[in-house]
Amino acid sequence: MCEFCTKHGEGRKWYLQMKNYSQVLLHEQLSEPQKEFAHAGSRYEWNQRFFESFMVPACAAAPRPAAGEGGHPNDASHEEEPHDEAPPPTPLTEEQILSQKKAVHFGQVLPIEDVDQVIDLASSITRMPCGCRFESTGLCDKRYCFGLGVDLHGILGRYPEASASLEVLDKQEARRILYRFDDEGLIHSIWTGVTPYVIGLCNCDHDCEAYKGYIEQRGIPSFFRAEYVGQVDWDQCSGCKECMSQCQFGAQFYSSALGKVYIDPLRCFGCGVCRAACPNNAIALIPRQSSPAADVWLREPSRAAVPGA
Ligand code: SF4
Ligand code: SF4
Ligand code: SF4
Repeated sequence: MCEFCTKHGEGRKWYLQMKNYSQVLLHEQLSEPQKEFAHAGSRYEWNQRFFESFMVPACAAAPRPAAGEGGHPNDASHEEEPHDEAPPPTPLTEEQILSQKKAVHFGQVLPIEDVDQVIDLASSITRMPCGCRFESTGLCDKRYCFGLGVDLHGILGRYPEASASLEVLDKQEARRILYRFDDEGLIHSIWTGVTPYVIGLCNCDHDCEAYKGYIEQRGIPSFFRAEYVGQVDWDQCSGCKECMSQCQFGAQFYSSALGKVYIDPLRCFGCGVCRAACPNNAIALIPRQSSPAADVWLREPSRAAVPGA
């Protein structure tokens, strides 16, 4: 299991623990180290600022706040400029940045079966414009983000100007949309708003800023791999290659000698979206911990620049 399950899941998947969705956790005063990393006194305060800087601009098609005026709350590049007379800050190491990201705003890939269980736990589901796609495409009608427990009567009520872009969904409608996203090959991920509080579910592709930074540019990780890894049953695989276009992690390879596709466990993030493309039901997800070859949660070991990744 990933380190969040060990720390925040009591030995089970951390995002399936009801306590990580609780109002008590949302309003609790943060510890001193948490306050320092999050620049907030409570999760409620951090989440308000997150939605204000990341989602509200996408609703209003307005520019994001400039550096030092808000920005993405967990983006080190948006830290305030130092005063002239102050000594320059010591740059953080990659390991320190990763540990701050894990403490404040971090994600994990999860397959649609687990998304289904998360929907059961959420006290409210609010569909909202995707801040990343707004940033990368300028479009503000791409509603791929699902805020959990942050409905119009709670955190989002503070932004009446954004309400026209928000949809409060019932669980059945949320499931219908999320299963459709799965068929389209969008990767599901779950995110914290000052760990381990769960704030939302995302449905991402190459327009995702977290994906671009971590996967495309091989930067500091922003999310864990899923608790699963994909496996192809060669008795069922016809070698049609339909699944290969779904994988956004470059984890599938075709063997012309065998006429089969295989999944590299060191590259697979366990999102499971390749399954929807397979006409033969040849792909299954197995628990990551049952496959020693897949015991990797962040970068592939050969690419790891961060100890423990
Ligand atoms: S993480 Fe994904 S769904 Fe969420 S804002 Fe970014 S691209 Fe959109
Ligand atoms: S091979 Fe792995 S990473 Fe690629 S789509 Fe399938 S489950 Fe996701
Ligand atoms: S889609 Fe299914 S049958 Fe076709 S190559 Fe992939 S695993 Fe094999």
